[in-house]
Order: sequence, then C-alpha cells, then structure tokens
Amino acid sequence: MSEGIEKYLHKEMDKQAGIEHTFHRTKIVATVGPACNTYEKLLELVKAGVNVFRLNFSHGTHEDKASIIQMINRMNSEEPYNVSILADLQGPKLRVGDIKHGLLEINNADILTFTSKEKVLGTKEKIYVSYPNLHEDVKVGDKILIDDGKIEVVVIEITPDDDVKVVVTYGGILLPKKGLNLPDTEISLPALTEKDLIDLDFIIEQKVDWIALSFVRKAEDIIDLKQRLAEKNSTSKVIAKIEMPSALKDLRNIILESDAVMVARGDLGVELPVEKVPMAQREIIRKSIHRARPVIVATQMMESMIDHVKPNRSEITDVANAVLEGADAVMLSAETATGKHPSLVVETMRRIILEVEKTEYRYNREDDLKPLAHSPSFLSDAICYNACKIAKDVSADALIGMTQSGYTAFMLSSYRPQSPLYIFTKARTLVNQLSLSWGVRAFYYDEEISLDDIIKDQINILKERGFIKIGDVVINTGSTPVPLHLPTNVLKITKVE
Ligand code: PEP
Repeated sequence: MSEGIEKYLHKEMDKQAGIEHTFHRTKIVATVGPACNTYEKLLELVKAGVNVFRLNFSHGTHEDKASIIQMINRMNSEEPYNVSILADLQGPKLRVGDIKHGLLEINNADILTFTSKEKVLGTKEKIYVSYPNLHEDVKVGDKILIDDGKIEVVVIEITPDDDVKVVVTYGGILLPKKGLNLPDTEISLPALTEKDLIDLDFIIEQKVDWIALSFVRKAEDIIDLKQRLAEKNSTSKVIAKIEMPSALKDLRNIILESDAVMVARGDLGVELPVEKVPMAQREIIRKSIHRARPVIVATQMMESMIDHVKPNRSEITDVANAVLEGADAVMLSAETATGKHPSLVVETMRRIILEVEKTEYRYNREDDLKPLAHSPSFLSDAICYNACKIAKDVSADALIGMTQSGYTAFMLSSYRPQSPLYIFTKARTLVNQLSLSWGVRAFYYDEEISLDDIIKDQINILKERGFIKIGDVVINTGSTPVPLHLPTNVLKITKVE
C-alpha cells in the first residue's frame, strides 16, 4: 500500500449527499441510452459512482436528449450531486448506405464500386458512401476499412465518372450504415458537419458542461468550435477526441487548444495499427496531465458486461492500467447505454478504481511537473505546485482551492495530490464541469468577504459536511485583494479548530 494512503481511506461519508462509499479519485463517465434513460435509473447510476453522463449525438433525437438533460438537471437540483453532462458530437463519420436485402456477402478479391453521387441500395455492383469528396481524396493503394475494420478493401481505380473501385483484401458480411475509416487518406470534410452544426445549436441552447468533438485532425478544428461557442456566449468546455493518426501528429497543439482530451480507442484502434493503441494512450495521457487538461480513456473498457455480470480479466486490467497511467476518467459506452447491467458495471468499475487508488497508485506527481518560468501563469503555477508539495510534506487532511476560471482546480488536480482536493467557485457552471477532473469535489461559493473569513468559512463548510474535523491540517489557496479576482497568489496552512 502506498505510504500514507490509509489515512485517507476512511469512508468519506458526505452527510449532505448521503454517499457512504469511499470517494473514487478517478472519475466515471457513463453513456446514456435505452438501458438507463429514466430518472430512477440515472440516479441509481450516480449512487453507484457515475460523475459524468455522456449523450452520444450519433444516436437518438433532440427530444430524447432534452428529456435526459432535464432529468440530470433535476437530479442536480433535488439531490446534492454535481453530475456533469457531456454532449458528444458525431463529427465527420463516414458510412455506407442501405444494402439490398439488408446484408451483402463480400469475399476476398471481389471488386466493388463505391459511389457518393446517388443513394443506391448497395449491391456488389455499387455501394453508396456518405462522402462526397471520396474520389478526390483517396489515391490508388489507400486502404478503406468498413465496420470497425472487419472488412478491408484497397483502392484500385478512380473511374472517369468519379466512382471509386476497390479490391477486397478481407471479406465479410456488409450490413447497412456501417462506418468507414480511411487511415491512409487526408479527409477534406469539415470538422463540423451540417448535422453537427444543427446539434451544436441545440447543445448550446441546453447549456451542457462539456462538448466532445469527434475526428479532430488539427488544433484549428478545436479553435473553430471554440469560436462558435464564444460567439454565442456559451460556457461549455471542449473535449478533443483523439482518434485519427493526424491528431497524434498535432497532439501538443490540440491539447493546448482544448479544455480536455479523450482517448477514443474505438476509432483510434481502426485508424492506427491496433498494436500502436496502448502506447498512443499512454502518450496522450502523459501529455494531457502535463498541460493540466483532464483526460478520459474511452471504449470497450468493460465490454463483456454488456451481457455478463462479470468483466473479463483483461478488462479489469485495462481499467486498472488506465487508472495507473493517471487518467482523470474512464468511460463506459454500450455497457451503460444498451447493456443488461448498467449499475453493476459502474459499481464494478468503481471497485477496480478504488483498489488501484489504495495500493499501487502514484500520487503526488508534482516533482514531474515543475512550474515553468516562461509560462504566463508561472506565479500562480508556483503556488499550486507548492500547495501540493506542502500538502504531501504535512500529510494534509484537505487541500482547498478557489477558482473563477477553473485554472487553479485543473492545475491542483494535475499534480494528483494524495490529500483530498476540494474546490470552491462562484462560477456555477464550473461546479459540474469539475466533476470530470481527477480527485476534485467542487462547491458553489460566492461570498466576497476578506480572504481570512473566506478561508474560515470554507473550512467550516467542509467540517459541517463531515469531510474534516477539529485538529486536521488543511492547505488553502486563494487570491487577494478579493474583489480583484486575481490569479491564485496566496497559500495558507491551518489547523482546524
Ligand atoms: C471512440 O471511437 O472510441 C468513441 C468514443 O467515439 P464514438 O463512440 O462516438 O465512435
């Protein structure tokens, strides 16, 4: 067991929230779908450990989504939870069209023709694909993968009437509307499709906390989305889904422009040779933590629990490894959206997380992440860094931060402090947004009294909720003069009275 963790493993009963289980620092994101789309089922999932609900805009209607959002907002107002909502835009997902008789057997060495001109019913002669620029973007020799790579074809000719002829290298059964991946091709489609723009208007209206952009290729894709959000005064934060080889090439800039990052292993595992996914995951996590951006590991984490009551051994190890690598959150997709045991999956995932966090987990990473003198936030970074260092030195019972922009919260969280981390903010939207961040418990707080009184007040709030007690040592960060809302510039150590 890592040194000193026993001290923090008491049942962290939050009196107000009625949560009796130990708090898991690594957060859980669960996708909502028909298996959990009632108020009672969503509440059950939150009680089992869900911190963030993901709404996947590849499926369902705006009406369905509005009703789920209303349920989550109701839960946050009636129950003392800060569950966050993540809207996942479909992005330029390419698909084949409908297929004659509902399926088509495709054999190795068959020659097929793809067209984007007319929505023909797919046969061996012609198959529709939803990609108008296909004939312009692909080159002879490019690979095209269908249905998560189950079928593989190679381009052999661009015909004079702009169709694309391919030879089948791995055959299989082709079903309607299956996805296409083109790992060798530079896709010229915009990052936000017409459907995404319609979805985006709805999402902005609904004021969700996080918006995930699929198939990000370069930092400009994120900049474009952020500009659209700024034009409409949206406070939603943006997650870059890393699932394309081109995104890995521009990873540093994408991370810098994004508010959080997702290792979207479903498409990444089709776009990249599969054996490259584990190291790509590790690199994306490392770089995201380095820039204090929350990072989510997604897809097929507990896949076998869609049907079964226990996960595979490899899935248990996969979740544990994501936690060990330092992910802020682990995500469930079909497991909670359409699976047979949504709350059992969440409970099982929480137990795996807690087991790692109480034994092997590497807390206190501040030594790897020293503040950089050339950074514009160098001085407040130095306070956050030293707050975590002192919290470790004195085995503090609480590390309490204050933030307006979220910066101090993301920064403190990125050091993965072993002392429990509490964040106070007057930015209401941040309270739920921070549910995605490793180890953070956030509280709405809008008093503008003297910093001494604010610190006393926050300590009292935590004492009343049973998080700390008389005699505990706590570290606070804050800023003075209070009315100026400057970046974090104060660090205080207190013995609770
Ligand atoms: C993924 O590809 O891993 C992913 C999360 O995206 P989606 O489920 O939207 O395809």
